[in-house]
Amino acid sequence: KKLIIGLTGGIGSGKTAVSNRFKALGIHVVDADIAARTIVEPNQPAWHDIKDFFGPEVLLADHTLNRAWLRQQVFTDEAKRKQLEVFTHPRIRDEIIRDLISSTSAYTILASPLLIESGQVALVDNVIVVDVPEATQIERTCSRDDNDVEQVKRIIAAQISREKRLTHADWVIDNSLPLETLDTRVEALHQALLTNGQ
Ligand code: ATP
Repeated sequence: KKLIIGLTGGIGSGKTAVSNRFKALGIHVVDADIAARTIVEPNQPAWHDIKDFFGPEVLLADHTLNRAWLRQQVFTDEAKRKQLEVFTHPRIRDEIIRDLISSTSAYTILASPLLIESGQVALVDNVIVVDVPEATQIERTCSRDDNDVEQVKRIIAAQISREKRLTHADWVIDNSLPLETLDTRVEALHQALLTNGQ
């Protein structure tokens, strides 16, 4: 059986930088964020469930979800958050599995910011954690996006702790070094995975 390798890390840790390098090596990368967006596209079953439950206010003029409004709704109401998860989580999982099955590369990467928190870790054989100190996460996320420091700190606080995440790691990619050094480390891991995957 071909291996499925989970790739996770906190916000701004460098998951995209790492997964881009696996893609360049010809490895199929399944992106859990894309699956999460796909299943709520207009007229999909999850979109209908969300619209019926939250009402027309949850839609923007173009019929896509008003994510900011929805975030506000579930942020302040645990029951609503749970309901949203009932509508979305099983479908995200199905979408991920569909994508994993379609892979024809030697092994497949499942990139997911919430691999462990979401239970998607059960879909993978091994886990790669991209790791940087919290100060680096904050610095890189703020220089990439418009997020202010407090906002990034809140997101970090809502994710699993760095220590807990690392306990799930079969391999840790330390991404505190310059970006160029990632190439050799990803290539070494790639060679190991090709060998183990035989
Ligand atoms: P998110 O969870 O927010 O999607 P991510 O884990 O995918 O983030 P990236 O987008 O890959 O993280 O990296 C965050 C930012 O830091 C990007 O602007 C990226 O170019 C930069 N970056 C990544 N790795 C390094 C590095 N080793 N040195 C310097 N900058 C880096």
